[in-house]
Amino acid sequence: MSGDDELNLLVIVVDTNPIWWGKQTLAGSELSLSKCLDATMVLGNSHLFMNRNNKLAVIASHIRESRFLYPGKHWAPVDVFGESGESNILGSKDGKYELLTTINETIAEELKDLMTNKIKGQQTETLLAGSLAKALCYIHRMIKAGTAGQEIKSRILVIKAAEDSALQYMNFMNVIFAAQKQNILIDACVLDSDSGLLQQACDITGGVYLKVPHMPSLLQYLLWVYLPDQEQRSQLLLPPPVHVDYRAACFCHRNLIEIGYVCSVCLSIFCNFSPICTTCETAFKISLPAVMKAKKKKLKLAI
Ligand SMILES: [Zn+2]
Ligand SMILES: [Zn+2]
Repeated sequence: MSGDDELNLLVIVVDTNPIWWGKQTLAGSELSLSKCLDATMVLGNSHLFMNRNNKLAVIASHIRESRFLYPGKHWAPVDVFGESGESNILGSKDGKYELLTTINETIAEELKDLMTNKIKGQQTETLLAGSLAKALCYIHRMIKAGTAGQEIKSRILVIKAAEDSALQYMNFMNVIFAAQKQNILIDACVLDSDSGLLQQACDITGGVYLKVPHMPSLLQYLLWVYLPDQEQRSQLLLPPPVHVDYRAACFCHRNLIEIGYVCSVCLSIFCNFSPICTTCETAFKISLPAVMKAKKKKLKLAI
C-alpha cells in the first residue's frame, strides 16, 4: 500500500540539559548523555533504513538554546557522495553506509560544540517548548519544499530528561495544538520524572507516552515503541496509555491547579480572583459587590 510517494519524516528532540546529565553522571547512573545519543542515533539510522524515502532530523534541546544536530549548520549533502573536497567527507571505514556515518559524525560534532559552550545566566530549564516549535517549523518547511502530490507523514519524538518547566506552559500548549492541527504526532520517551505537559501532548496528538522503566535499556524501548509508524503501531502490543495529568498552570504564579478562575474573554487561568484580567485587561462587573463589601468594611472601621 505505502507507495514510493509517501515520505516519513521523523524529528527527534533530545534533552541535552547539561545540569541534569551532570547530576546523572555524579550519581553513577548507567545512562550517560553519550549513551543516550548513541541510542538516538541507532533509532535514527534504523528509521532511515526502513525506507529510502524516510527522512530524519535531530534537535538538541538545551538550556536557553535549541539546535539542529542534524541536518546541522555545516551539513552539506553533496559531500556524502564525495563530490567536494570539504571536511565532511568521512568515508566508510568499516563498510557502513556512508550517509549514516556522516549523519552520526555530524550529530557528534554539533553536540560537542554545543556542550563546550559556557552556560550564561541563572536559568537551568530545558528549552523544550522552543525545540518543539523549531521541529514544527522544520516539518512545515519540508512540506512546503516537497513536490506536489507527495504525502509527508511527520512525527516528533521527544527524549526528555530534566523536569518540566511551568514557565513554558503557555508556549508548550500552543505548540501542542499547532501540532494537532497539522496532524503531527508527538511521542514522548521520558527518562526520569513524569511530565504532565508531554502526557497531554501525546494524548492530544495521538502519540505514545512512555516513562522508561529501566534507563540502561533505552535503546530497546526506542526501537520497540518508537520505530514503528502510526499504521504499524496498531498491530503491536505497546505499553498501555497512562493517566494524563490535565492540570493547567495558572498565569499568575505558574502553579499547577485543578480548580481556578478563567477569564471569560481570553480564557486565561488564575488561582486567585482578580477583578481585572491581567492578560486582556477586561474588567469584570461581577467584582462590584466584592468592592462594595470592602468599602462597607472600611466605613465600619472608620466609625
Ligand atoms: Zn496563580
Ligand atoms: Zn482575559
